[in-house]
Amino acid sequence: MTPEHIVGIVTAALFGAALGSFSNVLAIRWHEEVDLGGRSKCPGCGHVIRPQHLVPVFSWLWLRGKCADCGKKIHIQYPIVEAIAMLLGGIAAWQANPFTSPLQFALLFICTVGFLAPVVMDLRWQELPVEYLVGLGVVGVGLRTAIAWYAGANLLVSLGSTLAAIVIGVGVFWLQVALSRGRWLGEGDVWFGGMMGAVLGAPALVGIGIYFAYIIGGLWAVAGLASGAYKRGSRLPFAPALATGTMVALWHGENILSWIRHGML
Ligand SMILES: [Zn+2]
Repeated sequence: MTPEHIVGIVTAALFGAALGSFSNVLAIRWHEEVDLGGRSKCPGCGHVIRPQHLVPVFSWLWLRGKCADCGKKIHIQYPIVEAIAMLLGGIAAWQANPFTSPLQFALLFICTVGFLAPVVMDLRWQELPVEYLVGLGVVGVGLRTAIAWYAGANLLVSLGSTLAAIVIGVGVFWLQVALSRGRWLGEGDVWFGGMMGAVLGAPALVGIGIYFAYIIGGLWAVAGLASGAYKRGSRLPFAPALATGTMVALWHGENILSWIRHGML
């Protein structure tokens, strides 16, 4: 690894942490339907949060998870999302050097860090930001098309493959919503499936993403039922599993496909 690549990883991790911090605010303000302008305030006492207390993760640790003004507990969501975003940003730059493969890096960065806001919304309020998911999908298609264009690939083939991937992503989840009349999955998951197709760009990769989403979702359900966090028959938030499955396909999909082709799986 070159020193330049290490600089790229550290920078991307810090940028990821900052975007994680923004994702927290975005999720909450989207849920409360307030606009994104204006400084962040403590929900307890309404004091504007000081700039030195806006440093991701570290401020939360420094303040021991409490507001500096009123002492109200700051939701654990904040440092957790910031820490995960930092990790995901670093991984994106580790997998694709931002200096030598900026488009691949942008795709890996946006399509991992960008999943945090919808995952938080699904976990906390069982709702998904549909327009945001569509936006991620559009950005994913744009970046994939640019990557294909630079690589000299046939753009029609590339777009056709993406379209097929979107149809499969939407179709699989729409079918489950229709069959269960919304008891297993919600409409938001159908949009998530479409976005998954758009950012992965190939039907085989969507298959891998869905496969891992169900394994992770299944383990999550078993753990949730065993710990009493969820009751039998209650709907589980599925976006965390969908996001993780999509990331597995983004990170390792091509490797997994080549293992399958060579009969190693
Ligand atoms: Zn306060």
